Amino acid sequence: MGPYTDAITTDLNQTVISNGLCIGCGACAAIKDAPFSMTMNAYGQYEAHAVKQADGASVLASDSASKVCPFSGEGPNEDVIGLGLFSETCNQKVDGLGYFQSLYGGHVTQEGFRERGSSGGFGSWILNELLESGVVDHVIHVRPTTSPNSENLLFSYQLSDSPQKVALGGKSRYYPVELSGALKQVRETPGRYAIIGLPCFIKSVRLLQQEDPVLKERIKFCIGLVCGHLKSSGYAESLAWQTGIAPDRLKRIDFRVKDNTERADKYYTLAASASEEKIIPTKELKGTDWGAGTFKYKACDFCDDVFAETADLVLGDAWLPKYVHDPRGTNLLVVRNQHLEKLLHLAAKEGRIDISPLSVEETLISQDAGLRHRRKGLSYRLHLEARAGRWTPPKRVSAASRQIPRHERRRQRMRIKMREISHSSFLEAKNAGDLSLYLDTFGRAYSEYKKIRPGLITKFIMKLRKLKQKLAGNP
Ligand SMILES: Cc1cc2nc3c(=O)[nH]c(=O)nc-3n(C[C@H](O)[C@H](O)[C@H](O)COP(=O)(O)OP(=O)(O)OC[C@H]3O[C@@H](n4cnc5c(N)ncnc54)[C@H](O)[C@@H]3O)c2cc1C
Ligand code: SF4
Repeated sequence: MGPYTDAITTDLNQTVISNGLCIGCGACAAIKDAPFSMTMNAYGQYEAHAVKQADGASVLASDSASKVCPFSGEGPNEDVIGLGLFSETCNQKVDGLGYFQSLYGGHVTQEGFRERGSSGGFGSWILNELLESGVVDHVIHVRPTTSPNSENLLFSYQLSDSPQKVALGGKSRYYPVELSGALKQVRETPGRYAIIGLPCFIKSVRLLQQEDPVLKERIKFCIGLVCGHLKSSGYAESLAWQTGIAPDRLKRIDFRVKDNTERADKYYTLAASASEEKIIPTKELKGTDWGAGTFKYKACDFCDDVFAETADLVLGDAWLPKYVHDPRGTNLLVVRNQHLEKLLHLAAKEGRIDISPLSVEETLISQDAGLRHRRKGLSYRLHLEARAGRWTPPKRVSAASRQIPRHERRRQRMRIKMREISHSSFLEAKNAGDLSLYLDTFGRAYSEYKKIRPGLITKFIMKLRKLKQKLAGNP
């Protein structure tokens, strides 16, 4: 059986795309004779669009496109992919975390990486290490775009083959990116590659590798980022506009400027036009409460993978009391690959990194909010979609109407509303050249959201549960 030959009947147009569940990863546009290409929609999100033939008809959406799409549900899920990749080398698997060999908290001490990174600097360090040790020839990562492109995008996936170029790719980019261009370059250029990406993007790469022997052979390491959700370009524009730089003047943004005197979660946003640069504490900007989900892709509300369960190594922020007071930033690491484990041990011995083991509980607690949103929250959102008669992909949790208390259900509905109105009201604001159209609409919804509290019965049940835990000696 050759690549792309399995018979599958789902058409992405009728499932993922028409239901707004395309994350814009570009996998369906990266296959041979791709029936889709990637375009930016009016809201600043990448989206797959059917390729038109010379006579105007769409190229037939092939089964292979569905098989590589992380949201179609046609390919194997994260558990199955993880089983194939890691079950022999990883001795543990935990729900929500996936397979792992070891868990660490730490930072890079080797010069420059932590300073140039959003967190502890491991994102750029690990790519650099793989390149410098000669294990790979190129890395595929996200860098600022240098030449202005037709869509004025600030960041994109690019290939780097030197430490100098890798250094240009540090920092978290809460910004839409897509993979099809970079993966075409991988196909055209023989060599060994490492890639970094969000959980659904790494899943796409794994699914593509199952179908495409060239990508399988060339992409040697997949590095994942822990993920809360992905934002449209409206997020960057809305932050910059609040600093006084309107969307058409925005040339540069840094979402994670460290304040080396405060806590790690007190960072700044830097926005720049051709002539000025503004820097403001991120918490002072509207729409930056991650839980509110402004400018979120709808697909992110139908994802159940926080810890990039199909990646060889995963990096996140170690949001734990023992680390959060260090403003320089600390990473959380989930290791699933023996070569990477050895590489970390050697670097730790040489004093180039500083890592210490984390327990499963600490690792899960550090992403507690994200995990609740992608488990019980997801199960309620699946129920809402089913009730509205809309298609959703199969997930590792099932739809349930009452798994979460009433006030949590209300919170979920408000989050959906804030996601939707952030996109629509910001587009209105841009068209009218009036930022207040977004700020007022979002502001009203956000104050309603912040007022949601548990009812008396829920409070009583919560207290009872705490008491039971205490009596069981499990505080
Ligand atoms: C959209 C998004 C959501 C995130 N959500 C969470 C979260 O909920 N919890 C959490 O703990 N951590 C989250 N992270 C990860 C976190 O922000 C840091 O990126 C991570 O801790 C690595 O920091 P670092 O200092 O080690 O990496 P750095 O040295 O700063 O390197 C970052 C690396 O990530 C790559 N990168 C940046 N943006 C993207 C992108 N959009 N897509 C693919 N690659 C990219 C860069 O090219 C670079 O190689 C998120 C990251 C992103 C981009
Ligand atoms: S999520 Fe990715 S693979 Fe699926 S339709 Fe969108 S771009 Fe294509």
